[in-house]
Amino acid sequence: MRLTKFTDLALRSVMRLAVCADDEVLTTREVAEAMGVRQTHAAKAITRLQHLGVVEARRGRGGGLVVTDFGRRASVGWLVRELEGEEEVVSCDDPPCPLRGACRLRSALRDAQAAFHATLDPLSVADLVASPTGPVLVALGGPPPR
Ligand code: SF4
Repeated sequence: MRLTKFTDLALRSVMRLAVCADDEVLTTREVAEAMGVRQTHAAKAITRLQHLGVVEARRGRGGGLVVTDFGRRASVGWLVRELEGEEEVVSCDDPPCPLRGACRLRSALRDAQAAFHATLDPLSVADLVASPTGPVLVALGGPPPR
């Protein structure tokens, strides 16, 4: 299994936001800088996280991006499924493979993909940012003190 760059960036972004202090919010630009990616790429990942209810944008003075309570508790397996979509790990239809109708490899790969997600199901976003990961994420940067 290999995650798309989009999914990896979305996971890294929500992890960075999950270690913000109570009075800290980040902008998309700050998340992009912390992750070392283009702002347009970070913006797409964060927009998807917002649609999933994992991240919200607070408006007004002192506004910015924060992880929702739902996002903090969200299962990593669920999040990966949502970000990756229904794509199988192998493309059997483009071009059409003559074994498609009766392929044991395909069913084995489906089982392996399900097991991959199932391994991630018990983990929450909050679990991912426990030490030693959390302090490293904080050190990746954020806004200057307000
Ligand atoms: S051999 Fe099986 S898994 Fe591979 S492309 Fe063909 S149908 Fe899919």
